[in-house]
Amino acid sequence: MKAATAQRSVPFFDYPQVFLSREAAFVETFRQVGRRGAFIMQKDLEAFEQHLARFLQSAHAVGVANATDGLMLGLRAAGLRPGDEVILCSHTMIATAAAVHFAGGVPVPVEVGADHLIDPDAVEAAITPRTRFLMPTQLNGRTCDMARLGAIAERHHLQIVEDAAQALGSRFRGRCAGTFGTAAAISFYPAKVLGCLGDGGAVLTQDAHLRERLLLLRDHGRGPDGECADWGINSRLDNLQAAFLDLQLPDYPTVVARRREIAARYQRNLGSLAELKLPPAPDSDPDHFDIFQNYEIEAEDRDRLRTHLKARGVGVLIQWGGYAVHQCRALGFTQELPRTDALFRRLLMLPMNMSLSDEDVDWVSEAIADFYAA
Ligand SMILES: *Cc1c(COP(=O)(O)O)cnc(C)c1O
Repeated sequence: MKAATAQRSVPFFDYPQVFLSREAAFVETFRQVGRRGAFIMQKDLEAFEQHLARFLQSAHAVGVANATDGLMLGLRAAGLRPGDEVILCSHTMIATAAAVHFAGGVPVPVEVGADHLIDPDAVEAAITPRTRFLMPTQLNGRTCDMARLGAIAERHHLQIVEDAAQALGSRFRGRCAGTFGTAAAISFYPAKVLGCLGDGGAVLTQDAHLRERLLLLRDHGRGPDGECADWGINSRLDNLQAAFLDLQLPDYPTVVARRREIAARYQRNLGSLAELKLPPAPDSDPDHFDIFQNYEIEAEDRDRLRTHLKARGVGVLIQWGGYAVHQCRALGFTQELPRTDALFRRLLMLPMNMSLSDEDVDWVSEAIADFYAA
């Protein structure tokens, strides 16, 4: 690590850069789509759905307004009945639990494991006669051990609906997140690895019948001839956003490669600090291909470290504002999850985005090393 000389600012995420990184192409796309008047359910949406499905080796992809809707619609299409219990990890966005709630189910948050993903033993312990779904979150761009979760689901006759909002292109044993269960949702929120210029999402499924259901549910329950076959909502992915996403998809592997490079650099810089626990390095486990949506570390003396980093111009974040799902007591959760509580006192996300230079990564690393050396 080279000694940093000048004061630097390393923001956690640079929103204007989402647009500026390819301003001319976005503007040209806007012009083309606008001149065609192609705003709702047009060929750009269809093309993106096809390209996304092919990229993920998924049989189908259905664009929706956002991943939260996508999870809710995925559960409904999969046949969730009122009162069904859905097991999920407490270390996930409240959106995961909200999707269950609004689908008519009961979200059951369980303990997180050492890898920051759902703990398979905790899943088994939480199963009751009312449990019908398992909803693992493929968090931070890493896919859960789907062999173990799949075996549990099979043994207890549970369907899996994946929250793959953070995991486009992440793989477990060569298979992409989102293709293991009955359905899965991906998010295109601007700060996600593939972000659009607003809200957007997609539902993946391997089942042609389920795809038909999703196409109805996202568009007022209307079939191709306009007749309503079921209650639906308006949760269409804007054609314009689909065009913006389709524009970026070909470069996605390059984006992921750069993020993995940044993770490897953090690993080299920080791997020897005893006060930290880093995410697994990019090539440390042949079962996993991680896309590093986030670089989430565990840190001793986390709150003082955060203050120190702020003073050094480094933007960091605690995921979900620091609240695990079961800690949202106002929503009626009563679970006691001490391992998750303990982890949430240590979690911190370092900058991980396409605006970072190698020097930025070194600056962040050095600021952390200085903190623990003092
Ligand atoms: C971003 C995110 C969501 C919600 O995605 P939206 O597209 O904003 O609805 C759900 N779950 C996880 C884990 C997320 O990171």
